Amino acid sequence: MSDAESGGSGGGLVIVYTGGGKGKTTAALGMALRALGHRKRVCMVQFIKGSWKYGEMESSKMLEPGFEMIAAGKGFVGIIDDKSPREDHERIAGEAVRLASEKVRSGAYDIVILDEINYAIDLGLVPVSDVLKMLDARPPEVSVVLTGNRAADQIVERADLVTEMREIKHPFKKGIRAKKGIDF
Ligand code: ATP
Ligand code: MG
Repeated sequence: MSDAESGGSGGGLVIVYTGGGKGKTTAALGMALRALGHRKRVCMVQFIKGSWKYGEMESSKMLEPGFEMIAAGKGFVGIIDDKSPREDHERIAGEAVRLASEKVRSGAYDIVILDEINYAIDLGLVPVSDVLKMLDARPPEVSVVLTGNRAADQIVERADLVTEMREIKHPFKKGIRAKKGIDF
């Protein structure tokens, strides 16, 4: 492939979607859709997920085998009000990181999305050093997308592309509840 076709540098990127405004996970999914159109392979590992049925859990099946979706953070359901011991959360987070590292290292994917991993780091469930190691160990052509608010400084430093979603308005603020197909 020519440099122009490959987009220049030829190497994979570290991409961060952070900030308090809506659109971080949606941006990563949009990129996945774009990449799949070029027959690229994408894996999305979900670190923290609520009990809601997110539409992408269903639609990702329509995009197989190019797109693989893994709900690694199932155990995080209700973490905020969850009574299960912190060690359980840490263990599940550790397993999620190991799984994600395997996916990144495997070379089987062009893009690996680590959805909500920034929250897991912020909550102290995932050591930032483990994530930096994962980024260092990746094959050079693999891009990694990290989503979630309050991205760690070290992750931002390490990234090639960082976008901060900033809330200007959110319907939630005027009491409009989450909408199917827009929020989940
Ligand atoms: P989305 O999945 O819609 O792209 P996100 O990834 O930017 O959102 P998260 O922090 O992962 O945001 O939050 C997930 C849920 O919270 C979604 O249902 C989303 O619509 C909602 N949400 C996101 N930002 C806000 C906000 N500023 N105020 C209220 N709810 C929000
Ligand atoms: Mg999100």
